[in-house]
Amino acid sequence: MSLDLVTQCHECGLLQRNPPIPPGGGVRCPRCGCTLHRSRPDSLNRTLALTVAGIVLFVVANAFPFLTLQMQGGATETTLASGVLALYDQGEWQLAIVVLFTSILAPGLQLGLLLAVLLPLRLGLATPGLGVLFRYVKTLTPWGMMDVFLLGILVSVVKLADIAGILPGVSLFAFVLLIFVLAAAQAALDPDIVWSRVSLPASARRVPGRGDEVLACHVCELTLCADAAPRSHGHAHCPRCGEVLHWRKPRSIERTWALIAAAAICLVPANLLPIMRVTSLGQIQSDTILSGVIYLFHHGMWPLAVIVFVASVFVPMMKLTLLVYLNVSVQRGSRWRPRERTRLYRITEAVGRWSMVDIYVVAILVTMVQLGNLATIEAGPGAVFFAAAVVLTMFAAMAFDPRLIWDRLTWGNEERHHDSIRR
Ligand SMILES: [Zn+2]
Ligand SMILES: [Zn+2]
Repeated sequence: MSLDLVTQCHECGLLQRNPPIPPGGGVRCPRCGCTLHRSRPDSLNRTLALTVAGIVLFVVANAFPFLTLQMQGGATETTLASGVLALYDQGEWQLAIVVLFTSILAPGLQLGLLLAVLLPLRLGLATPGLGVLFRYVKTLTPWGMMDVFLLGILVSVVKLADIAGILPGVSLFAFVLLIFVLAAAQAALDPDIVWSRVSLPASARRVPGRGDEVLACHVCELTLCADAAPRSHGHAHCPRCGEVLHWRKPRSIERTWALIAAAAICLVPANLLPIMRVTSLGQIQSDTILSGVIYLFHHGMWPLAVIVFVASVFVPMMKLTLLVYLNVSVQRGSRWRPRERTRLYRITEAVGRWSMVDIYVVAILVTMVQLGNLATIEAGPGAVFFAAAVVLTMFAAMAFDPRLIWDRLTWGNEERHHDSIRR
């Protein structure tokens, strides 16, 4: 595998030379500690095999019902798509779009694109637009939430176990396997192998010298002299993957503030209004996020209650608080513990998706409990606000540029050799 000659760390902005990586080893940024490159043995074959297995499981998971609800002699079957349709039929098209995109489209597209990238590479064929295709694999990654959906299934089963018999369908097993296969494919994938196969003009390979303005692509991590980047519509573009290049994310602080404010506003109705309305034998019962947690707790499911509380209440609040703190610290030019602040940012980026679990619970319950006069479940107005808050906090974390934490600091020689790590 050949690495680029230099890399600018995407988290702290340090420009550094890339050393050769021993097989199974990795390169860590000496300043902020984030992993820049990691060699993964036999990456191409393993990722390709896992991708093909993933596609088969994905088709099975979507083609068959994953749960069957039995009650009063009748049975309701639930497929992945039926939750989306049930939300759409109730007029909750915003929720339907969020669930469709995160539980079906994003993972499906990601698997398809991975196959389109890896198969020709394995066969030694040239793929037109290889860099652009692989860029979409990377940008879709945070939006595929099948693992969160599985947690949603678990919570729904617990909630329904009281009122009806639940039978797991064949697709549930495919679903569980798929989550492990997707995680294994992510772990086996070495993006540097794909990026090294995209041909680049010689100018983009020139090592930036002292005084050169440097641009780094945050998708493929190509680091190049600013004048070597092709320009169109007033923007510099990455010659490898096509992403728009910036010295720092444009107006990062302002955009992060705006998204934090929007998410915080949405969180108020999200927690106060019901996310679900249960009509059973003429009686209407409304469930908020917190009352759902209390329900699980009262039914002896306290581990699940704790998980849902952490994912739905604690994580969104913590994420917003951390982003407010990071934004204020950057605005005030703080020099305090930049490494720890960068780590906080990393946590903020990673945990946000788990908040989506309650939205999936609503989608699953809405489709399963349609028993005419006996019982129906509808999505409540709080659910839309909650989904909006989760998506907005994810965008807020993406808008923040962690390199701003380091910009006020001087750290000796800007170009350094890496320390290598061995696993
Ligand atoms: Zn760094
Ligand atoms: Zn790029």
